[in-house]
Amino acid sequence: MAARSAFLNEQGPRVKFCVNCGRRIPVNSPYDKCKECMKKELFPKVKDFINENDDVNEMIVAQEFGIDRAMVHEWVREGHLEYKKRPQF
Ligand SMILES: [Zn+2]
Repeated sequence: MAARSAFLNEQGPRVKFCVNCGRRIPVNSPYDKCKECMKKELFPKVKDFINENDDVNEMIVAQEFGIDRAMVHEWVREGHLEYKKRPQF
């Protein structure tokens, strides 16, 4: 394992590490943090955002926080968050 990562390091920028915890993240990841750290950092904000705003959806949250829609979807599902719908009267 150690030898393998040393080898990869010699190959140039083929590895990328989370700036927060040092965990390896996919080199093609658009983020500089791993998913876990992003979740820890952003999830409470996403939660607040969803709670405080009517008519938000995955797309809006993703744009607001500059993250992947799939990630938002995952968090909402795991966190049992619900989007508020404007009352239909
Ligand atoms: Zn991390």
